[in-house]
Amino acid sequence: MKRAGFEGEVVQRREPCRICGSMEGLKIAEVEFWDLQQSDLVQCKSCNLIQLDPMITPGNTATGCHAYYLKEILETPVHEQKRNLVRNYRRGIVFANSLKRKGYHPELILEFGPGSGYFSAGVRFIFPDARITVVDIVDDVLKMNEKTHGFTAYSGSPEDIHLFKEKKFDLVIARDILEHVTDIGKVIRNIAALLNPGGLLHFITPNGKEDVWGHYMNHEFRKKPSELLINHVNYFDGTGLLKCLTDSGFSKVEYYTYQVKYFLRGIGWRQSEKLAVPVSERKSADELIRKQDQKDPTSFQKEDVLNGFIFQTKIVRLISFYCWLKHHWIFRLDPRRNIGHEVHGIFRKAG
Ligand SMILES: [Zn+2]
Repeated sequence: MKRAGFEGEVVQRREPCRICGSMEGLKIAEVEFWDLQQSDLVQCKSCNLIQLDPMITPGNTATGCHAYYLKEILETPVHEQKRNLVRNYRRGIVFANSLKRKGYHPELILEFGPGSGYFSAGVRFIFPDARITVVDIVDDVLKMNEKTHGFTAYSGSPEDIHLFKEKKFDLVIARDILEHVTDIGKVIRNIAALLNPGGLLHFITPNGKEDVWGHYMNHEFRKKPSELLINHVNYFDGTGLLKCLTDSGFSKVEYYTYQVKYFLRGIGWRQSEKLAVPVSERKSADELIRKQDQKDPTSFQKEDVLNGFIFQTKIVRLISFYCWLKHHWIFRLDPRRNIGHEVHGIFRKAG
């Protein structure tokens, strides 16, 4: 068995690393984003961030994201969609309680990429006075967040924050967002600019080493481009991400990885073709959009989603305890070891 680090050809990149600007990289895989674009996966030799080189263009990102959004709705059974909403609500409650215990009471909250909005709804259950703003590029998501939760919704991305000229927030939430953004260095600086002094950034993002492993294995064993349907364009190294945050003036409140079942299967360290993701078949994004776009997605009433006995009790402490039981992580690992499925972070802006 080879060492667990990446091996590949040293290449001159087409675009500089978005954290450190280096032009030198290690090519570890080739990917195809739908039938839209082919790129290399390149690891920066200085900061270890793995990125697409070149990045997906904004136009291709919009098309691919739309297709992926429809594909997910198509492939997720309705009862599972509903369960995910409740799960996110519970996670929001657990997260807000963890802030409360640390003495934080955010009032102005901004969430990038809110999905169903149920995570922030859970946060507001614990902080009823919180005012929540959400930002997304998909119009359906914005409409749903306004209609279901009454959040203020803006169309945009964390790379483009001119929307909020004078506005500052106490908490910025970016769950499963950082792996999607083209310029991660800029996004971290933008978030710092959006926060009040002492404000918090909360994110989760995949552990890059596990997330990229299937592409790496496909490249090692098959020497063909792999299929990339969701636009993960950044694959973070635990040490590099921490440095990027601290260099932008953030200090660590919580930083850990969780869920080791994929690691136990060998993802992130075992050299095996079984762990490879599929070879690209150049699936057509436009065709999927044409076929699916006319159908209305299932919509859910909030009362139907949160209809479990426990939520009906309205007893905050009981609900909080129940949610904690469902979602506390027994094993918390140091992200710098690059083991674990997902990285959880809470960081505080100086002030
Ligand atoms: Zn770099």
